[in-house]
Amino acid sequence: MEFAIARERMVADQLRARGITDARVLTAMGRVPRHRFVEEALAARAYGDYPLPIGEKQTISQPYMVALMTQALELVGGERVLEVGTGSGYQTAILAEVAGKVYSIERIRGLADRARAILEELGYYNVLIHVGDGTLGWREEAPFDAVLVTAAAPEVPSPLVEQVKPGGRLVIPVGGSTAQILKCLVKGPDGTVRESELVGCVFVKLVGEQGWQG
Ligand code: SAH
Repeated sequence: MEFAIARERMVADQLRARGITDARVLTAMGRVPRHRFVEEALAARAYGDYPLPIGEKQTISQPYMVALMTQALELVGGERVLEVGTGSGYQTAILAEVAGKVYSIERIRGLADRARAILEELGYYNVLIHVGDGTLGWREEAPFDAVLVTAAAPEVPSPLVEQVKPGGRLVIPVGGSTAQILKCLVKGPDGTVRESELVGCVFVKLVGEQGWQG
């Protein structure tokens, strides 16, 4: 109950007040129990305006960043979405609320296992989690309507661009290891890619063949 109030307050003060307008994103952020995606000792801080540690030196992103990235994908429902960096599974749950099916890749098995368990417990059956290097995308399931990367890349991995459908979007933080810019790439019907910059951000490293070296 207390968590429901904290969640409502988060949606109003951190999201609506800062310009998140997509009704489906706001509804999803108001529904998903973020406190279930962090360890119990941190549950009371789960709706705070900051990222939190989730173990393995990784973090669950700040609520505003999750909302902003999801909104940038412009999902209307029913889409097939690829997420790179499952982490806690929180962003995965938000995507599962607003899209049709979510394919999520995580390189650290312990995190993938935990995310899978909580997502199943909460009833998100439209999610598939794979352990591996997400910089290469998910070839067997491509192409996707949208791709979301939740770790920082030195450059946009080309397999991910290739695996976006014409008309689709790729949202990804790109830059150095300490600060990045959130980029949105839109693939035109003819396959040409238009890029825009959304906001400065700080993410953990995307480690892989087309990312940072582990
Ligand atoms: N969306 C997550 C954020 C997790 S932080 C959440 O809401 O909790 C980013 C995650 O990306 C980390 O769990 C990290 O292990 C993972 N990651 C880093 N490089 C990766 C790669 N090449 N493929 C898949 N996952 C990767």
